[in-house]
Amino acid sequence: YEAKRTRTGHEVYLPERDTHSRRRLELLGELRDALANDELILHYQPKADIATGEVHGVEALVRWAHPRRGLLMPSDFLPLADHSGLGRSLTAFVLDRALVEIGQRRSEGFDLSVAVNLSPADLLDLGLPSDVARTLERHAFPASCLRLEVSEDAVMADPERSLEVLRGLRAIGVATALDDFGSGHVSLGHLKHLGVDEIKIDRSFVLRLAEDERDAAIVHTTVDLGRRLGMKVVAEGVETVEAWDALAVLHCDEAQGFFLGRPMTATALAGWMRDRAAAA
Ligand code: C2E
Ligand code: MG
Ligand code: MG
Ligand code: MG
Repeated sequence: YEAKRTRTGHEVYLPERDTHSRRRLELLGELRDALANDELILHYQPKADIATGEVHGVEALVRWAHPRRGLLMPSDFLPLADHSGLGRSLTAFVLDRALVEIGQRRSEGFDLSVAVNLSPADLLDLGLPSDVARTLERHAFPASCLRLEVSEDAVMADPERSLEVLRGLRAIGVATALDDFGSGHVSLGHLKHLGVDEIKIDRSFVLRLAEDERDAAIVHTTVDLGRRLGMKVVAEGVETVEAWDALAVLHCDEAQGFFLGRPMTATALAGWMRDRAAAA
């Protein structure tokens, strides 16, 4: 198998690089089946407007309810999916499921939009916008209530083509967000041309926001930059009331994180929204 030797001489096992191991092949076969057998499930994490506290959006986050290994998190299987050409199928599955489940919440009267994370392969596929348009139509889900999140490094794999895919998404009325902003290799020049609607500040800058002046400076500047570029700015990884309050002072638009709510099933989300409305 492929392993990396650290300076101390220990080997770090990198399953996503390990193309031949039995475990990897086994997991890959299982992942293909999981897509077909409904073993992948979605949790939804709420996102709130910081000024009003209102929740109008959630982010769909995939989990694998593995029959023997328990609940697997994205970091356990996404690298494998991406390296094995399953990225597009995974997105198709997640998008479909998210539109069904949030469509149900919407028909119950909850005014919600949903954000879905794209895989790197999606941004290389010029057919993505028409696929997404068809899925929206199939579920009679308004395009304006869907947001697609892209990571900096997925964009940088092929900036030209990504730009075209993002343009296509805008043309069908779907909003886009640049995820984990500040943690990857997107330059300000790229940001200028990408035309995303939203910037999500990486949680590494948000976690200690109230205690670390350097983090506060970075968040402050990003909020300002987003505003001047006409983009909404969202902070992810808001874990404490102190971070929330600091974001309010900086006039950040929206916040997502354990302080507001953890990722939960679509059913739990309905109860959570009701409790929140009752408490307000
Ligand atoms: P992301 O898109 O940046 O999603 C936010 C991640 O941060 C989620 O981890 C969420 O549970 C976690 N998080 C939220 N609030 C807090 C907080 O206050 N503190 C901390 N420490 N963490 C918080 P998760 O669900 O493990 O997902 C990890 C990543 O996997 C996501 O990062 C996203 O890049 C990817 N991912 C998740 N679902 C999908 C999917 O359906 N498709 C694709 N392509 N990628 C996905
Ligand atoms: Mg995301
Ligand atoms: Mg993120
Ligand atoms: Mg993140």
